[in-house]
Amino acid sequence: MELYELTIHEAHDLLRKGEIPAIELTQAVIERIVEVDDQVKAYLTLTPEWALEQAQQADHRIAAWRKNPSNALHPLTGIPLAIKDVICVAGVPTTCGSNILEDFIPPYDATVIEHLRRRGAVILGKTNMDEFAMGSSTENSGFFPTHNPWGLSRVPGGSSGGSAAAIAADECLGALGSDTGGSVRQPAAFCGVAGLKPTYGRVSRYGLVAFASSLDQIGPFGKDVTDCALILQAIAHHDPRDSTSVDVPAPDYAQALVPDIRGMRVGVPREYFVEGMEPEVEAAVRAAIDKIADLGAEVDEVSLPHTEYSLPAYYLLAPAEASANLARYDGVKYGYSHSEVEDVWDAYRQTRQHGFGAEVKRRIMLGTYALSAGYYDAYYLKAQKVRTLIKRDFDQAFREFDVLLAPTSPTVAFKIGEKVDDPLQMYLSDVLTLSLNLAGICGISIPCGFADGLPVGLQIMGDAFAEEVVLRVAYAYEQATEWHKRKPVL
Ligand code: GLN
Repeated sequence: MELYELTIHEAHDLLRKGEIPAIELTQAVIERIVEVDDQVKAYLTLTPEWALEQAQQADHRIAAWRKNPSNALHPLTGIPLAIKDVICVAGVPTTCGSNILEDFIPPYDATVIEHLRRRGAVILGKTNMDEFAMGSSTENSGFFPTHNPWGLSRVPGGSSGGSAAAIAADECLGALGSDTGGSVRQPAAFCGVAGLKPTYGRVSRYGLVAFASSLDQIGPFGKDVTDCALILQAIAHHDPRDSTSVDVPAPDYAQALVPDIRGMRVGVPREYFVEGMEPEVEAAVRAAIDKIADLGAEVDEVSLPHTEYSLPAYYLLAPAEASANLARYDGVKYGYSHSEVEDVWDAYRQTRQHGFGAEVKRRIMLGTYALSAGYYDAYYLKAQKVRTLIKRDFDQAFREFDVLLAPTSPTVAFKIGEKVDDPLQMYLSDVLTLSLNLAGICGISIPCGFADGLPVGLQIMGDAFAEEVVLRVAYAYEQATEWHKRKPVL
């Protein structure tokens, strides 16, 4: 086995036992990136020299720990990770996949980055994404599309497509993404890896470039469930710099990883098996549900009656919030500034006209419209009310069930170019993930089979702050199956 193929927990065992130095591990992953990233295009920015420095520091840390092993060595020490380019890393370009931020270099680290660095993790670089995290395929990147390692003519999903593809192609051991409506879970499903969206408020958003502030949440990607739990543990802390961060200590997620789900109550929401879903996707997910029943869970059908309104509500609320958040890109304080302009209004107009891509402009227009006088009540306010109904459906369901199971996306990874000119088709890719963001609850996508040679994702949804429960079901299923061990050939 090559070093770059290791999971985080496997690599940690070798580092701890002194069988490999951290620098060798990072070197192996950098070589892997050099070997395959021409095909996959997962990274926007690579920081190999800095990564090797960080790995060297990790080796010093491991040596110090060996002399005085009173505290445990942190499982992320010396582990090479990839960061979605929407999260600020001090001194490293953070573009959000947008030309308007092409030369933006943040002067500070996001809180999640501080947490990772404090634990000795190694940052390899920044991954590609849909511009400002708006999209489901990474084709809306202002720079280039990322390719799915399972089929290079396919999209990796989005908007965190670079992070998901990097994991699947062994171009990092773990990664961070952000999930506003499905952007961790859907690319995880398309790339056959594990990706978790934490509860709203569980992980600090300080230093995460805002898309839709009432929905955004940073989440981990891993080659397996254990790795997701390890990354989540490192980043799930209260942060006074994010007023939505919740002051509730995170439990020990590793303890949740027991392969015993006997007696757990599992709901299958009937509205999540939607029209237009690929039959092979449904078959793989149904087989996974049967497996979970075989493991001793009590499985029953449940109804979440307002599900069909998730998509319209999300596509009013998310653009409305985005239209306000993106007002700051005016070419004055930072980022792209158009030079041939007549006056200040023209400067704003030209900068935004040239700096933003088509999807971002579409969202700004939709959102501005939904918030404008005379339409606010009919669109924005109504969508907020629908959001409450969707939340109530989940509240009701979680009174009866510990977790809910559904597909992550109705299809497997589609072809690059297939949906790029049809926004509605693209939006439908997230029809099964958006509702969790609207309700503020948590969920994970893990691989549960293949359709047409491409990975299928099982979505396990949990109530607010029930990450432990979600991880436990995911882990039990993973231990009983082999899907997570399959690798694409590159
Ligand atoms: N695909 C959805 C959108 O385009 C979700 C994106 C996300 O979660 N960042 O808005």
